Formats: sequence, structure tokens, C-alpha cells
Amino acid sequence: IHSDLSGRVALVTGASSGIGHHFAQTLARAGARVAIGARRSEKLESLASEIAAAGGRALPLRLDVTDRNSVVEAFAHAETELGTPDIIVNNAGVTIDRPSLEQDEEEWDRVVDTDLKGAWLVACEGARRLVAAEKGGSIINVASILGILGTPRVAAYTAAKAGLINLSRSLAIEWARHDIRVNALCPGYIITDLNREFLEGPVGEKLARRIPQRRFGQASDLDGPLLLLASDASRWMTGSALVVDGGQS
Ligand code: NDP
Repeated sequence: IHSDLSGRVALVTGASSGIGHHFAQTLARAGARVAIGARRSEKLESLASEIAAAGGRALPLRLDVTDRNSVVEAFAHAETELGTPDIIVNNAGVTIDRPSLEQDEEEWDRVVDTDLKGAWLVACEGARRLVAAEKGGSIINVASILGILGTPRVAAYTAAKAGLINLSRSLAIEWARHDIRVNALCPGYIITDLNREFLEGPVGEKLARRIPQRRFGQASDLDGPLLLLASDASRWMTGSALVVDGGQS
């Protein structure tokens, strides 16, 4: 078993912050060349410099996963510069915290368009290019345990993430013949810069008590599962939903 990703090309969406930012560094450290996509390109430039300074190779890509043309362009650029991406990490995601009766349609659409449709667009464009290049690959869809557990105030998010888990199963069956594996990664609460204040505050303390391991995760707690799904170590895994949540769900 090994998770050496030398010679592999990864494309990570939502790499400008949080988990995606960390994943790009982890994949680069494991030897992959990484295409890093998001809308805020200035953040990607500095991540690319950090990866280069550590001896890796990263290509920043301005990418809006809800826009098909943007997805196609990003893949075309990545393929020309680095080779056909054979590790595709669908990590871009947004959420809104609002009771369902107060949520307007535009907000619902934004969440579902990013978290579900965006992941579908990226997976399909990635798979199309892998099939054309006659190359196998691993698609990792970052869902959430909230795609398994019903949760108030985030209905659009829970619906989109549940959809992403079952989308992964369906694509896994369709693309197995092309040696393209599709799995969902379902993290529990992960502390990032955006939620740190909340999770380290009084509400967070209560939430943490409901986790059997009594703590929130760090992005680095996902490194093992990420490298497992990305590498040949998981060669007989496809269509699975890997839960990483300290025992919460
Ligand atoms: P962040 O908000 O820090 O990161 C989200 C990333 O998605 C950003 O890089 C953002 O970049 C990008 N993004 C958003 N919309 C788009 C878009 N339309 N096109 C391209 N990129 C986009 O969140 P996290 O790191 O916490 O979350 C990352 C993923 O992990 C999400 O899918 C989330 O649902 C999932 N997750 C997070 C958990 C947690 O506790 N943190 C738990 C379980 C799952 P930009 O704005 O520059 O485009």
C-alpha cells in the first residue's frame, strides 16, 4: 500500500481557502502536480507560490464551478500545462444558515448550483477528458455528514450533499468500465478560518460534546482518507461514501 502520487495530476476545486487549500498542499506533498481552482485568483497565486517554494508544482485556475464554460476552460488549461487530471477533487461548496421558511429561491439555487450541479459539471468534464486520453482516475466528491443526517437551517445544503453522495454512486457505476472511480468523502465538522470563531466559542463547546471523540476535526485529519481515495490503495473502492467525523454520525 502506498500513497505516492508522483506522476499524477490533481485538480482541486475550491482551493482558495479551508479544506481545499489544505488538500492542494497535501496532494502536492504526495508528489502530484496540482491544478488549483476557485473564483478568488489572488488567493490561488499565493498558494501556488507556497507549493512551488516547497518543491511542488501548482497551476492556479480561475474557476466558477457553476459556469460550464469556466469548467471546460479550466480543464483545458490544466490539461495543456500539467497533463490530463486523474485525481479530481470536487471540494468547492457554499452553505447558508437560514430557516427554510425564510430562505428565498435565489439562495436555494446558489447552494444547489454550487454543491451539486457544479460537482456534476466538474466530474463530467474530468471524466470526458480521461476517457478521451484512455486514462483511469479517481474522482473525490467532498460531501458532508450533513448529506446523511437531517439538520435544521441548512436544508438546501443537506439536500445538495445527499444528492452528491448518490450522484457519486451512479457515476461510479457508469464509469467503472473506464477505470474511473468515484467516491464521496463525508467529513464531520472541520475547523477552518471561516468557522473557527464559532466552533471555538460556547455553541461549539456544546456541539463538540456530541462527538464521541470529543473534538472537531482539522483539515489534516482528512489527509489519510484523501490520500487513500486518490491513490491506488483504494483501487477496489468506488461508489462509496467514506465518513470521517470522530464518530458523530
Ligand atoms: P470554505 O468556504 O473555506 O471553502 C469553500 C471553497 O469553495 C472556497 O475556496 C471557495 O472559493 C470555493 N467556491 C465557492 N463557490 C465556488 C464556485 N462557484 N466556483 C469555484 N469555487 C467556489 O469552506 P470549507 O473549506 O469549510 O469547505 C470545503 C468543502 O468541504 C465544501 O464543499 C464543504 O461543504 C465541505 N465540508 C466542510 C466541512 C467543515 O466543517 N468545514 C464539513 C463537511 C464538509 P472562491 O470563493 O474563491 O470561489
